[in-house]
Amino acid sequence: MDIRVVGVVGAGVMGIGLGQNLAQTGHQVVLVDIADQVLETAKAEIRKNLRFQGMFQKGAKSEPADTVLGRIQFTTDYGALSEADFVVENATEKWHIKKEIYPKIDAICPERAVFAANTSCIPITRIGSVTKRPDRILGMHFMNPVPLKPVVEVIRGYHTTEQTLDTARKLLTQMGKEGIVVNDSPGFVSNRVLMLTVNEAAFLVHDGVATADQVDHLFKTCFGHKMGPLETADLIGLDTILYSIEVLYECFSDSKYRPCPLLQKMVDAGLHGRKNGKGFYDYSVS
Ligand code: NAD
Repeated sequence: MDIRVVGVVGAGVMGIGLGQNLAQTGHQVVLVDIADQVLETAKAEIRKNLRFQGMFQKGAKSEPADTVLGRIQFTTDYGALSEADFVVENATEKWHIKKEIYPKIDAICPERAVFAANTSCIPITRIGSVTKRPDRILGMHFMNPVPLKPVVEVIRGYHTTEQTLDTARKLLTQMGKEGIVVNDSPGFVSNRVLMLTVNEAAFLVHDGVATADQVDHLFKTCFGHKMGPLETADLIGLDTILYSIEVLYECFSDSKYRPCPLLQKMVDAGLHGRKNGKGFYDYSVS
C-alpha cells in the first residue's frame, strides 16, 4: 500500500513535530485539532522550527518553509481525513478524549487505513476495542522532538496484524526512522520506566531532599544522561507526565505509580513545562 496522505490528530507538542516531519519527508498531511487558535499556533511553530532546523541540523533538506507548509492542511474538520492512508493520533493523554476520537475516524477514514496511537501509556488493545478495525491499530510512540529522533517504539496490540506492522515500518522508512517493536502493556517499555523515574524525581523535590537542578545535575554528570529527569519532564509537558502516571496507576492498580502531589499542584497552577514557559525551570526569558 502506498502511504501518501497521513492524518495527524492533535496539533500540540507531538502533532506539531509529526506534521512537520511528515511534510518534510514528502507526505500530504491533514493536521486536525479542535480549535482554530491551536492550529494557528501549530503553523507558526512549524515555520519557526523549519527556520531553526535549517540553521542547526546538518544535512537538513532546505526546502522553503512555504513548500513544506503547503503539504499540510490545518483543519478542525475530521471529514478532511476521508482520504487518509494512515492516521497518527496525538490528542491529550486522557482516555475519555481518545475513546471519542477512534470511532469518529473509524467511520470517516478508508477501510484500508491504519491507525497509530502516539500515546504515552494507554494500552493499544484498549484503543483497538473502540473501533471496528483492531487488526489495523498499533502504537507508534514517537519521541520528542519528532524531527530529530530516529527511533520509534512500535507497539503490537492484541489484534494487530503483521501486515499492519509492515505498513507502519513502511511509513517509518519513508520518514527515515527505525521502529523497535514491543508487545502491548501500559506505558510499553520506555514510559513504564521513564514515568516512574520522573515521578520519583518529583518526589525528591517535593520532600525537600534536593532541588530540581541538583537532581538533574546528578543524572547528567554521574550517569552521562544528556538531560536530567526533570528537564525531560519539562520537555514532555508536566500535564502529559501527570496524565501518563495516572494511566499507569489505573492500569496496574499498583501504588508505586501514585502521582507525586507536587506534579498535581504544578499542573493545577498551570505550570506545564517548556510548552507554556514554566515547569521545574523557567523558560520565559530564553
Ligand atoms: P499536548 O497537550 O501538547 O497536545 C494535545 C493536543 O490534542 C492539543 O492541541 C489538544 O487541543 C488536542 N486535542 C484534544 N482533544 C482533541 C480532539 N478530540 N481532537 C483533536 N485534537 C484534540 O500533548 P502532546 O505532548 O502533544 O501529547 C499528545 C499525545 O502524544 C499524548 O497521548 C501523549 O501522551 C503522547 N506523547 C507525548 C510525548 C511528549 O513528549 N510530549 C511523547 C510521546 C507521546
